[in-house]
Amino acid sequence: MSDEVPVLELRSLEKHFSTTKGIVDSVKHKVAGTSPGKVRAVDGVSMELRANQVQGVIGESGCGKTTLLRTLIGLYEPSGGELYFHGEPVSEFSKHDWKEFRRHVQLVFQDPFNSLDPKFSVRRALAEPLQIHDIDYDEDRISEMLETVGLTPAEKYLTRFPNQLSGGEKQRVSIARALITEPDLILADEPASMLDVSTQAEILNLLNELTDEFGVSMLYISHDLSTVSYICDEINVMYLGRVVEQAPTKDLITDPKHPYTEALIKSIPIPDPHYMRERPDVTGEPGDPINMPSGCRFKNRCPHRMDVCDYTPHDVSPDDEESRSVACHLYYEHPVDAPMEKIQ
Ligand code: SF4
Repeated sequence: MSDEVPVLELRSLEKHFSTTKGIVDSVKHKVAGTSPGKVRAVDGVSMELRANQVQGVIGESGCGKTTLLRTLIGLYEPSGGELYFHGEPVSEFSKHDWKEFRRHVQLVFQDPFNSLDPKFSVRRALAEPLQIHDIDYDEDRISEMLETVGLTPAEKYLTRFPNQLSGGEKQRVSIARALITEPDLILADEPASMLDVSTQAEILNLLNELTDEFGVSMLYISHDLSTVSYICDEINVMYLGRVVEQAPTKDLITDPKHPYTEALIKSIPIPDPHYMRERPDVTGEPGDPINMPSGCRFKNRCPHRMDVCDYTPHDVSPDDEESRSVACHLYYEHPVDAPMEKIQ
């Protein structure tokens, strides 16, 4: 493990939501002496993102990855745990620190069709973040950034409005807008998913090249393991609010440990009609995030379920590989005679 301070560090980060619908509902609970339910959308997530590293967060819809992203950018206040940016706790940020954070942490959204203001020309869309952060600029800086993201010649694009751009060009403008303040970190929310397949590949290649060129770190959130594995150095697999496996991409794809990761890999489509791949042996839907199963949250779908899976598994390094961790009872010894509650 490196000694360098991570750009972003999450320590047991939580974001829970109450299921109470307004004051009347709260009063009803008070009168009945019941407690409202909780959606534990993000429930004890830990990870470290180092300089110039690209990490992915992968999981099905409803696994908590979007809530995680919103918590990271400060839209939601964490319910527990802590978030550090360059070693500083975000919970102690002053107004000035938040402004700096917003300059150095930029977002690329999923939907290029709605992420740009339709009234802003490309020139204005790129100038706006520089003005907000009091950064001196001239037209050359904007043109240079457009050319960096492949919009050449820049003069052709400067005066265009979003409705005069294709989906791929819009996403290139969004990437240019994110990079123009020279951030340390990009949070990318499925930035290729709404584009056609060939444009997806172009955008992924562009992000790949630019994170290297600018030395920027990126957290790439997606439900699509094939794009995440293409672009990320490491992958975090999320299931019902928790990270169940973390590993360098190659290790995770070639030798998945958690049964859920295995199932995700088996579900990646292979564009060869003659290739018959093993079918995933996982069935059913992810559990209800309000009434989570106790113990391992994947147990109701897991083909390897054991009695001990009624207890929450620890994060362990499988085969003593320090670079990876998995939360599954299959990967550590449980004393034979110990009572069940002692072996979790
Ligand atoms: Fe399956 Fe048990 Fe591992 Fe959960 S802890 S993934 S139920 S084997």
